Amino acid sequence: MHKELLLGDEVIAQAAIDAGLSGIYAYPGTPSTEIMEYIQSSPEAGEKHIHCLWSANEKTAMETALGMSYCGKRTMVCMKHVGMNVAADAFINSAITGVNGGLIVVSADDPSMHSSQNEQDSRFYGKFAMIPILEPASQQEAYDMVFYGFDISEKLGVPVLMRITTRMAHSRTGVALKTKRPQNELSLPEDPRQFVLLPGIARQRYKKLLRQQPEFEQESVSSGYNQFIDGPDKSLGVITCGIAHNYLMENYPGQTCPYPVVKVSQYPVPVSYIKQLTGQCKKILVLEDGYTLVEEQLKGLIPNPSFTVCGRLDGTLPRDGELTPDIVADALGMAKKNLSPVPEIVVNRPPALCKGCGHIDMYNALNDALQGHTPGRVFSDIGCYTLGALPPHLSINSCVDMGASITMAKGAADAGLSPVVAVIGDSTFTHSGMTGLLDVLIENAPVTIIISDNLTTGMTGGQTSSAYGLIEKICLGLGLPEDRLKVLTPLKKFHDENVKTLKEALQHKGTSVIVFRRECIQTAARRARSKK
Ligand code: SF4
Repeated sequence: MHKELLLGDEVIAQAAIDAGLSGIYAYPGTPSTEIMEYIQSSPEAGEKHIHCLWSANEKTAMETALGMSYCGKRTMVCMKHVGMNVAADAFINSAITGVNGGLIVVSADDPSMHSSQNEQDSRFYGKFAMIPILEPASQQEAYDMVFYGFDISEKLGVPVLMRITTRMAHSRTGVALKTKRPQNELSLPEDPRQFVLLPGIARQRYKKLLRQQPEFEQESVSSGYNQFIDGPDKSLGVITCGIAHNYLMENYPGQTCPYPVVKVSQYPVPVSYIKQLTGQCKKILVLEDGYTLVEEQLKGLIPNPSFTVCGRLDGTLPRDGELTPDIVADALGMAKKNLSPVPEIVVNRPPALCKGCGHIDMYNALNDALQGHTPGRVFSDIGCYTLGALPPHLSINSCVDMGASITMAKGAADAGLSPVVAVIGDSTFTHSGMTGLLDVLIENAPVTIIISDNLTTGMTGGQTSSAYGLIEKICLGLGLPEDRLKVLTPLKKFHDENVKTLKEALQHKGTSVIVFRRECIQTAARRARSKK
């Protein structure tokens, strides 16, 4: 059996290639980015002509994948958890249209917010859409589950959600690979009306989805990914979800857990196993790395419950943040494991823009242009430039979601605030800033929009942005008058000129767009190295 040492994200990517993938669609977002990057750099994926360019955002990625599935081919969509909010419209509706070729949606959640603005748990999206959810407990399970996910997606005719977390995505282990499968041939859906969600058809499709729920649950019990593992000590029953199973077992190295355990790696929740557990144990501990999806469902699943439930809701486990083996040990009343102390060289450093980054010169110019105006006027977006909120820049006042800078600035201008500035990056602009610009331009709202164009998606490691080389054309195409568009270079030597241009825009009683353009120094350095 061939084994490879791979990162969790790479495991999923290799599994998809091996299982007959024809196209992957994604928008970069930590901790999901490496799935697409692995396929982009895989010679095997190249030989198989697997489509693997970044999409403009998660919604376009989801819709394009649905189109490939319509043609009978296997496809994967990858995003970080907050990307699910962007993809939600297409994602929820794809459960109603169903699929033709297998479709797996991978959402990488980030409990503890290592690099995210919230902790949301994508399992709720899967439950909301009423489709099967896979939550691997290990990298090997993730590999095997990609094959299985395509199989059940094609067998049940619905997309399948695979939910992973940061630890799963970013830890490396040896994984046994399976025999490769060919890609699907092009084939159109048998029912030509399947993907037409007119109300009359959508109602029928929705009823079908509801009728399928017991089948999904049966699949959950019979797949082998969910297990009832008996234990002699019935004083406690444990339910583990996904990677939380590893956190439990790390507390029993070389031996089995003394308590009965229901291991959940596939949803809908395996009710028969849960009933078996609650029939034996008066106290149930639920370990799930994220929200309280299973913990909240427990009492509803079992009529007249005679057991107590412990977990995140009653304070046995912390309500927020990532689980760890030590937190689980605490909940079990066990001594914490003696982990190696963190070496002194590893210290917490506040995040900062790279020395020499063009965003710094842009903020220096903006701060000077805004002198004399009270704070609370600069709406920012999500990217490296969000660090402009921190000292020494202290330039921005918001960071809510992708694209929200332009639209929030519009709302503030509508409220009468003046002057109002929106800062957005090139990648974020095409992700979801363009539609906001259209809203601004329709009313010629008095907003100064700064597009800080570093010619890449810097924050996630330098992926090519959909906006590359197109920003001016897009702005003019959306209706921006040519004289309200300026392109500046964020360098010290142009500081005075940049401040002057910004001041003029701030005084203008309509919309202005100022593109600050200088390549991310990290991308530039990588490009220079690759040329050597
Ligand atoms: S990665 Fe690039 S864009 Fe981000 S802070 Fe560093 S130089 Fe600036």
